[in-house]
Amino acid sequence: MALGLIKICGDPHCDAIYHNCTKDFKKCLDCGGTVKMINEDTYWKKYSNYFFQYDANTHQYFRPKQQ
Ligand SMILES: [Zn+2]
Repeated sequence: MALGLIKICGDPHCDAIYHNCTKDFKKCLDCGGTVKMINEDTYWKKYSNYFFQYDANTHQYFRPKQQ
């Protein structure tokens, strides 16, 4: 499955990760911090087990499964 744009919150106290981001998605929905884009490799290596993962459009929990 191809993932959409993935962005993570840059605030070290906030572990939120957002999936299916639009290019205009710039602020964390949890803390208002600035988010930064990561690529898919980085996501699977470092972030795929994080708890707070959301769909950026709905703010519902979202966790992709690796094929
Ligand atoms: Zn945040």
